[in-house]
Amino acid sequence: MFDTKRIENVKLTRRDAFRIAGAAGMMAALPWSGGAAAAAAPPAPQGVQGGGYYRFAVGDAEAMVISDGGLSFTPIQPTWAPEAAKEELEGMLKSAFLPTDRMNLDVNTLMLKTGGELILVDSGAGGLFGPTVGKMRERMEAAGVRPEQVTVIVLTHAHGDHFGGLLDGAGKPVFSNARYFASKTEIDFWTGPDPDFSKLRIPKDRAEMFLANARKYIAAIKDRLTPVLPGKKIVEGVEVIDAPGHTPGHIALLVTSGKEALLNAADTVHHHILMFGHPEWTSAFDVDPPLGAKTRRRILDMAATEKLRLLGYHLPFPGIGHVRAEKGGAFEWVPEPWNWAAG
Ligand SMILES: [Zn+2]
Repeated sequence: MFDTKRIENVKLTRRDAFRIAGAAGMMAALPWSGGAAAAAAPPAPQGVQGGGYYRFAVGDAEAMVISDGGLSFTPIQPTWAPEAAKEELEGMLKSAFLPTDRMNLDVNTLMLKTGGELILVDSGAGGLFGPTVGKMRERMEAAGVRPEQVTVIVLTHAHGDHFGGLLDGAGKPVFSNARYFASKTEIDFWTGPDPDFSKLRIPKDRAEMFLANARKYIAAIKDRLTPVLPGKKIVEGVEVIDAPGHTPGHIALLVTSGKEALLNAADTVHHHILMFGHPEWTSAFDVDPPLGAKTRRRILDMAATEKLRLLGYHLPFPGIGHVRAEKGGAFEWVPEPWNWAAG
């Protein structure tokens, strides 16, 4: 029990205070404490939060989510959930103790070691989205993996926050030994003569930049790029799941090993509160918003029904958890607790 009376009775005299301060000063001057400079300014904690990567397993497959950093969108609407009533959207955020003036999204790339391959699913934003992202490569190297050791890269879709890390500042491929895989529909859409952006709700110049970047990056890897179709396996245990709408050829991946599975939902669902609570809410980045919403409901329904472990590219790091079906067609994100024993 806490004895409040005793605490009240403790009165620090001026002399006591000086004595305590003096002792602290002496301790700071000892060699192991960093010397007198440390006494003047205590060191600030440094380094990447949690190391920037999270290791886990899917059956016999070794897995790791590598954070590329995070993106912040201000204001939230109309980029996100433009169809939502402002009061309802803000009410949901407030009840989750989140700010209402901005929406923060993480950027979670997935690495898998399985079947003799080292697979990277999406590559982060590289230099395309500013200084808060583009950290994937240094964090991957901090985890002991060099870019030339990656043998397979899967792109879930051709948006810059997913392919930007493929080229370095000089425009050279970062992953010199990798074979690439992306959906045939996606490659055809972005490299075709006249991509249909009529339902996209971002400014025209931004859409043109998205297109120019997609074409540049696809051209840079095209000699080693294999188009894939939904239902096919990229390697044993990594199956392509059709998930169109956010982009026409957007794919999810079902990773299976032994009795375990992981559904990499990629950009099927961006926000852990808003889009789980209202799967019909869309984003201005969706090439086909109604189709994206339909896919979101299907994928969330599949995860909830089959109790599948899910990974979301933009969910709070490391973005692994389960989906619970709620009343009225809503869903709830149940993040998996951080497991120190898993890596
Ligand atoms: Zn994305």
